[in-house]
Amino acid sequence: MNERMLRELELADVVAVVSRTAGAGSREAEAASTMNAVASLATPVSSMSWPELRSAVSACTACGLCRGRKQAVFGVGAEKGPWLFVGEGPGADEDEQGEPFVGQAGKLLDSMLAAAGLARGRDAYIANVVKCRPPGNRTPTLDEAAACAAFLDRQVDLVDPKVIVALGKTAATRVLGAEPASLGSLRGKLHDYRGRPVVVTYHPAYLLRNLPDKSKAWEDLLFARRVFAGRHG
Ligand code: URA
Repeated sequence: MNERMLRELELADVVAVVSRTAGAGSREAEAASTMNAVASLATPVSSMSWPELRSAVSACTACGLCRGRKQAVFGVGAEKGPWLFVGEGPGADEDEQGEPFVGQAGKLLDSMLAAAGLARGRDAYIANVVKCRPPGNRTPTLDEAAACAAFLDRQVDLVDPKVIVALGKTAATRVLGAEPASLGSLRGKLHDYRGRPVVVTYHPAYLLRNLPDKSKAWEDLLFARRVFAGRHG
């Protein structure tokens, strides 16, 4: 018997205990979510279902960010895409509410989506490079991004987007695998991540501080729409 089978057997025992101790109503729901978490321990991240992945993210302690979080912020929106927007990591509002891009930057992102004829939940899934809030809203380190990498990769594979939009340098660095000299050098070009086309643009929080660059972000969204339609030339 190999190590994985042993682990699964141990986990099966835990599941049995949880099932025996679960009562009616909310205790059943609690048991179901515990069992999801338990199942998620036995499953490689690369083959997790959405509920297993969500449980694994909320229980993750792979890097120090877990110590400062109120909750992990998983991702939100249309689980089948066809658009995927990748941000940096949760801020205070997201940590509080458990959803990406709900603060000022999120409002701008939603209006950018609306201008492009898109809506989160209908056409777009929104995820972050790291799922836990970095203290003081600092940029996540490369190690923190690496600790969360398998989660984002699984979200990419589950959404299976027709186009990925990387919002800002942290997302571009993570998705393209190398830190760019400047974000500007990545704009207007078609990149690739896990076999899906990637377009790079500015992070909405940057745009809030640099309003004149909004027109460049709009050009990037138009480019992304052409990529989506297969008309990028
Ligand atoms: N900025 C991000 O990159 N992600 C969020 O979820 C919120 C702000």
